[in-house]
Amino acid sequence: MVVARTLTPLRSAEILAVGSELLTPFRTDTNSLFITSRLNDLGVEVIAKSVVADHAGTLQAALRLALSRADIVVTSGGLGPTDDDLTRDAIAAVAGRDQVEQPSVVAAIEARFASRGWKMPENNRRQAMVPAGADTLDNPNGTAPGLWLSHEGRVIIALPGPPREMTPMWDTHVAPQLATLTGSGMLRRRIIRIAGRGESHVDQVAAPIYRSWTSAPVPIATTILASPGQVELHLSAHGEDRAALDQVLGEAVGELTTALGSAVYSTDGRDLEQVVADRLLALGATVAAAESCTGGLLMGRLTSVPGSSRWLTGGIVAYSNSVKVNDLGVADSTLTDHGAVSEPVAVAMARGVRRRMRATFGIGITGIAGPDGGTAAKPVGTVVICVCGPGDDDVVVKTAKLPGERAMVRRLSVQTALDMLRRACGSPDYN
Ligand code: AMP
Ligand code: MG
Repeated sequence: MVVARTLTPLRSAEILAVGSELLTPFRTDTNSLFITSRLNDLGVEVIAKSVVADHAGTLQAALRLALSRADIVVTSGGLGPTDDDLTRDAIAAVAGRDQVEQPSVVAAIEARFASRGWKMPENNRRQAMVPAGADTLDNPNGTAPGLWLSHEGRVIIALPGPPREMTPMWDTHVAPQLATLTGSGMLRRRIIRIAGRGESHVDQVAAPIYRSWTSAPVPIATTILASPGQVELHLSAHGEDRAALDQVLGEAVGELTTALGSAVYSTDGRDLEQVVADRLLALGATVAAAESCTGGLLMGRLTSVPGSSRWLTGGIVAYSNSVKVNDLGVADSTLTDHGAVSEPVAVAMARGVRRRMRATFGIGITGIAGPDGGTAAKPVGTVVICVCGPGDDDVVVKTAKLPGERAMVRRLSVQTALDMLRRACGSPDYN
């Protein structure tokens, strides 16, 4: 592919996620997140992004606006063969180019159909129409090729919508080509993840440290992002020298991690379940869980980690008292004396499941997720979680008063249990 080199590096980008389905409550634009992250890797800042309907006028207006303010315009979606796939036409219209059928693209699409024993439907020919002057980007995972068009000092990049087609196309074709036009600058980023602390608590500790970094020789921008049960600190630095940026960010991460202590569970991009998985593997330990109010949500998160069979033995959804008694060995008297949502019951559930599922660690979760079932003593959001290990004393039990609706209470219960497990297997004594 031949691309005219521009003298000034391309620094800014705008993303258009094209597709009317992305404007319904049923589909989310995730492509722009991937594209943003990859652009940032090249030192390009995303200055705007939008989700645009499959509508010719709207799409053309969005393209014109994007071209008026960004060096790079990236679209995803709307390259398919059907009448509502309008991205190709809109780019041609806005850039004032005719479209020409490209025989090599027709041949590639025909070959793709032939490999499955099918004949190419005639409407797929649309995908071989290319605005004059544009290059096509091969799509080994679908029929729609991508497009690359240099136009009046800007670059327009059109990518297919399905993420499994879009992401390899970016990495194989777009990134290497764009790197020659974006200068040598890059943005490096590190993420510190924290469990069990609120946003303001984290910021109180972190802000006095990160505030001074904005005026450092290599400035670091810090953003704080809170989600249920978790806070993230995103640190980013822009410059020319990858090793120097990584060094500065590494020191910054070290400083914040020291200040925040054991609440930090990852500084390398891993999520909480992966950290727990890695710790269990390092210990050669396993876990089992008995869940009441979370109904298997903890199991869902644990088994989302590939290879979880190496450290997860099993679990029981112990919703009714009879399952707690008959399948976990919780004593009737414990239930009647303390109630189902109580520390003795959570401990007995954790011990019961640990023993029955032959695991190193057992987890018991029992609580009131709401909206009904709360009392003055045990309001909605009261959740008791126990993590027990092999020894009689290896028991940590916590009664939490969790905020929010049913879904939030259940989600926070799982997050709390995972974090308790992480802390429980922090010591290598459990071998
Ligand atoms: P299209 O290339 O417009 O035919 O898109 C085909 C499919 O890709 C859509 O039905 C979506 O499921 C998916 N898709 C399109 N755009 C996006 C996006 N921005 N983020 C995530 N998925 C998308
Ligand atoms: Mg579409």
